[in-house]
Amino acid sequence: MIIESLSRVRERIGIACEKAGRDYSDVLLIAVSKNHGIAEIREAEQSGQIHFGENKAQELRDKFAEIGDSVIWHFIGSLQSNKVKYVVPAATFIHSVDSLKLAEEIAKQAELKQIKMKCLIEYKTSSETSKAGTADKEEVFRIAEFMQSSQSISLRGLMTIAPFVEDIAPARKSFSDLADLRDEMRRSGFALPHLSMGMTNDFELAIEYGATMIRIGSAIFNNC
Ligand SMILES: *Cc1c(COP(=O)(O)O)cnc(C)c1O
Repeated sequence: MIIESLSRVRERIGIACEKAGRDYSDVLLIAVSKNHGIAEIREAEQSGQIHFGENKAQELRDKFAEIGDSVIWHFIGSLQSNKVKYVVPAATFIHSVDSLKLAEEIAKQAELKQIKMKCLIEYKTSSETSKAGTADKEEVFRIAEFMQSSQSISLRGLMTIAPFVEDIAPARKSFSDLADLRDEMRRSGFALPHLSMGMTNDFELAIEYGATMIRIGSAIFNNC
């Protein structure tokens, strides 16, 4: 049952926060509902879950058409410029901005809708498989500067995906690298309230490194 998985996850978040000396309310749980249907999302919603994450533009568009904004949608997947138009009307946050070109397209679509899109920049902290994110720090700064100057985007933080391996050392390095980049950018005057990091396998570690948004799918929807 989703209600039980959710309460187990929330309990683990509580324990991790306590260990890290952090407030439970400073860590936002995003239920990653990709590949799961409307009924399961409704069930999670009825269990008190408010924030949901999707990683495919059309899937988000379709789910948004059914469920609307009774929940808060986060787009967390890699995004092509030509699909931004599906995401902007539905998402409250886009976590996966990894190029200046993409940021410009988001600004354009947000301007058409007359909204201010909340965005995070995805930094690639590991050389692993995933193509998502930019490993180029200068590009991160360029995107941040553009967002800061845009009327249609609000820069909210940084996001990363840690390598998926047994050993926790690489995940630890990923999370600490993201926190270091956030600190460096703060010294350059960027506000960056959020660190979006941590998934089913590594969210406790991410909380230790200051995650304010954790993205959890399997532990909620597949009972892992
Ligand atoms: C699928 C996905 C998650 C959730 O992964 P789980 O291991 O199922 O918790 C988090 N972030 C991103 C970007 C994802 O694509």
